[in-house]
Amino acid sequence: MRKLTILGATGSIGASTFKVLEQNPEKFSVVALAAGQNVAKMRELCQKWQPKFAVMADDNAAKQLKLQLSELKIATQVLSGVDAMCEVSSMDEVDTVMAAIVGAAGLLPTMAAVKAGKRVLLANKEALVMSGQLFIDAVNKHGAELLPVDSEHNAIFQCLPSDIQTNLGHYQLDNHGISHILLTGSGGPFRYSDISSLDDVTPEQAIAHPNWSMGPKISVDSATMMNKGLEYIEAKWLFNTQREQLKVVIHPQSVIHSMVQYKDGSVLAQMGEPDMATPIALTLSYPERITAGVPALDFTKVGELTFLEPDFNRYPCLKLAIEACYSGQHATTALNAANEIAVDAFLNKQLRFTDIAKVNEQVASNIIGSYSSSQCSDLESILELDRIARELAVTIVSGLKR
Ligand code: NDP
Repeated sequence: MRKLTILGATGSIGASTFKVLEQNPEKFSVVALAAGQNVAKMRELCQKWQPKFAVMADDNAAKQLKLQLSELKIATQVLSGVDAMCEVSSMDEVDTVMAAIVGAAGLLPTMAAVKAGKRVLLANKEALVMSGQLFIDAVNKHGAELLPVDSEHNAIFQCLPSDIQTNLGHYQLDNHGISHILLTGSGGPFRYSDISSLDDVTPEQAIAHPNWSMGPKISVDSATMMNKGLEYIEAKWLFNTQREQLKVVIHPQSVIHSMVQYKDGSVLAQMGEPDMATPIALTLSYPERITAGVPALDFTKVGELTFLEPDFNRYPCLKLAIEACYSGQHATTALNAANEIAVDAFLNKQLRFTDIAKVNEQVASNIIGSYSSSQCSDLESILELDRIARELAVTIVSGLKR
C-alpha cells in the first residue's frame, strides 16, 4: 500500500488525485494533506480521508480547521506553515508525495520530499522551473523517484525507453535513438481570436479552457501559452534536451498529449481523454497500470487531428520562456516570479491580458541584464532572486494598472 502526502489537496490536481484513489482504495492510504486557505474543502477532505495530518499555509485557516474538526470529533492533527508542509513531505511514514501546490509556494515542500528520497509526483512545474539543475541534482543525490504529472511530460515519459524513465534528467536522448520531443499544446481559448481583440479579454474568458478543467493560474497560463513555456523549461530539465531536440506544436484537439520522434522515423504518441486522472494514476502506480475512472478514448468520435506552428505574435510569453530557458537559471526563476504576479493582477482585474507579457518581458530583461545564473547556486539565493523579481513585477504592474 502506498502512503501519501498530497500537497495542494484542495485544488484541481488534488481533486483528480482523489478520483484515482476512490477507484483503488485498497492500494493507497492518505497520511497527510496540505493546502493554502480553503478550510471548507479541507474539512470535507479530512472527513472523507481521515488523514493523520492536515496542514494549512495560513495560520488563521489552520485555527478554523482545528476548531471545525474538533467539533466533528475528527482526530486529524492540524498544522500550519511551510515548515509543517516540509515535515509532512519528508516524514518516514510517507513514501509518495503528490506535489500539486500552485506556483513558487510549492518549491520548499517539493524539495523536502526530494531530499527525503520519496517518490515525487511532480505537478508543480514552477518548482522545477525555479530551481532546474539544483532540483535534478537533488533527485539524483537523494535517490528520489521523480514522475511527471503534467499530461505532456507524462505522455513523453510513456514514450521513452524504461532506462530513461527511471533516470530522468541525466540520459542523452541521442544515445537512445531519439531525435526530437514534440511538446503539444491546445493553443488555449484564443487560438483563433483576432490578436487585436486580446487587450479586452476578461479573466472569465481566459480561464474557460476549451479542453481541460484546471485551476485559475494554469488556465490563464494556457491562454497566454506561458504554460507551454514553463512546460518547455520543465521538459528541458526532465528529459535533458538540447535546443534542437525540443519543439512545441499546437494541437487544438488535445487528443495527443505529446510525442517522441525517433531517428528511424518512428513517432510514439500518447493519447487519451483530456483528464488528469490518467497521468496521475500512472505516477501513483508506476510501473503498473491501474483504473483511473477515465472513459476509453472513442476514436470514432475524435474526428480530425490537426497541428500547427505556434505564432509568437499571438503568444509572446512562449517566446520569452524559450529565450529564458537558454539564458540561464536567473532568467527562468525571474520569469516565473513575474508571471505569478502578472497573472494574479490580471485575475484581480488590475491588468490587461496583453500586459501579462509586458510585465514578464520587462522583469526578465532587467534580471538577465543585472544577474547571472551563477547567482542561483542554492535554494536561498533562488528564493532571494524570486523575491527581487516579484518586487520589480509589482512596480511594473502598478505602472500599467488599468
Ligand atoms: P489550483 O489552483 O486548482 O490548486 C492549487 C492548490 O495549491 C490548492 O490546493 C491551494 O490551496 C494550494 N496552495 C495555494 N497556495 C498555497 C500555499 N502558499 N501553500 C500551500 N498550498 C497552497 O491549481 P491546480 O491544481 O490546477 O494546479 C496545481 C499545480 O499543478 C500547478 O503548478 C499547475 O501548473 C500544475 N498542473 C495542473 C494541471 C491541472 O490540470 N490542473 C495540469 C498540469 C499541471 P487553497 O485553494 O486551499 O488555498
